[in-house]
Amino acid sequence: MRIFTAALGLEANTFLPLPTSYEAFVEKLYLPPGQQQARPSHQTAACWVTAERAKRDGFEAIVGPSYAAQPGGAATRAAYERMRDDILGELKRALPVDGIVFNLHGAMVAHGYDDCEGDLLERARALVGERCVIGVELDPHCNLTEKRCRLADIIILFKEYPHTDFTERGEELVDLVLNALRGAIKPKMSLYDCRLIASFPTTIQPMRGLVDKVKAMEGKDRVLSISLGHGFPYGDVPESGARVLVVTDDAKAHGDRVAMEIGGEMIALREKAAPPFYDVDGAIDAALAEPRGPVVIADTADNAGGGAPSDNTTFVRRLITRGIEGVAVAPIWDPLAVRFAFEAGEGARLPFRFGGKTAKASGPPVDAEVEILRCVKNAHQSFAGAAVPIGDAVAIRMGGVEAVLISNRAQAMGIDLFSNVGIDPTRRRMLVVKSNQHFYAAFSQIASKVLYAEADGPLPRDYRKLPWRRVMRPIWPLDAETHPRLLL
Ligand SMILES: [Zn+2]
Repeated sequence: MRIFTAALGLEANTFLPLPTSYEAFVEKLYLPPGQQQARPSHQTAACWVTAERAKRDGFEAIVGPSYAAQPGGAATRAAYERMRDDILGELKRALPVDGIVFNLHGAMVAHGYDDCEGDLLERARALVGERCVIGVELDPHCNLTEKRCRLADIIILFKEYPHTDFTERGEELVDLVLNALRGAIKPKMSLYDCRLIASFPTTIQPMRGLVDKVKAMEGKDRVLSISLGHGFPYGDVPESGARVLVVTDDAKAHGDRVAMEIGGEMIALREKAAPPFYDVDGAIDAALAEPRGPVVIADTADNAGGGAPSDNTTFVRRLITRGIEGVAVAPIWDPLAVRFAFEAGEGARLPFRFGGKTAKASGPPVDAEVEILRCVKNAHQSFAGAAVPIGDAVAIRMGGVEAVLISNRAQAMGIDLFSNVGIDPTRRRMLVVKSNQHFYAAFSQIASKVLYAEADGPLPRDYRKLPWRRVMRPIWPLDAETHPRLLL
């Protein structure tokens, strides 16, 4: 038995003007055919699991290329077509294959392509024929189009947000693909469109309860897998939005009922899924009112994980103006300022400008007297056991406010984002992190309290503020009345 595997990932924020080039993929993650990461990550977990399982489950894994970029604007046409054709070229060379396991993000848009994953699957299916079993692992922030559900045999999304379960979901996917190839199951998929745009952190109720409920339903009554598609709220494509996908063992009618029932539950919690939000001063005041730290404040509107530049300066300027002591902010993406800090050297004190560069939503730059605390080449932060590169990193101090500047755009995920540049996050009164939810897995372990705040970065949590043009209407919250339905 021969199984081909490859990865391609971009969460494309179509509202941002930043194009995502081929170089942006190679800078973040490129593995040539035959290569694996030392440890699985959310970008490659299904490929990693396929290669590992081949060693003990008696099949042959043909490992194709892996590509992933930091979330950003849509990919250029040239970048997408080059990567797609590289993957398909390797697939062609590997033929004949019995199965394919793809690790795709699922919200990839390129110039001229609304549904890159659907396009890739269509071309892959044309090469391998109907009998080949195609399994796909996706991020829940995907545009779960009907096309890709018709072309693949099995699709499984991560269940957790923060996405800490990519390896478990990869194991499940490979199990189902192998069982289908052995004739032990006949996977059938049901897809329900909830017609809504929302954010669904799984660390808080009521979403936590729904995730636990669907996990308990799997493996019973011929239900093989249930995925809750959150949708990517900053991707303006026709099929944006939350969807529920159920895979059954040849029990389509039952799968349809489950998809509709769980879809109905997702719709019922759409207004209750997000945590309460503060404005900038409200969050600082609430943090100051806590008897002990560190209080962790998420600056969600400038989350590089949603494609934002991560160089909005509103929080840091407010902290400096208010003279707050014992606070650290990270990460601020500013490759030029990082370079200047390296040139000035550790211990230097100088007038310094940083942040506020990329777009109008970045705000004005900060000009301050700064002390360069620490400069680290090729720095990393941790996420769910994986080491995530952040380029060169610098810690700077202005009075009681410290900031971590980085040269490769990334969101805050690991507490070592601070400690690797000499800032002990456990000893700060307040930490401001640019992230929507991935920070939570690590930072909640050290936080006295976690607060969510909305500054004026480019990712508003009121999705009605965005200039939607292409999404199918009606959809909540852009429209009050919607018509959720079973698509497949
Ligand atoms: Zn995601």
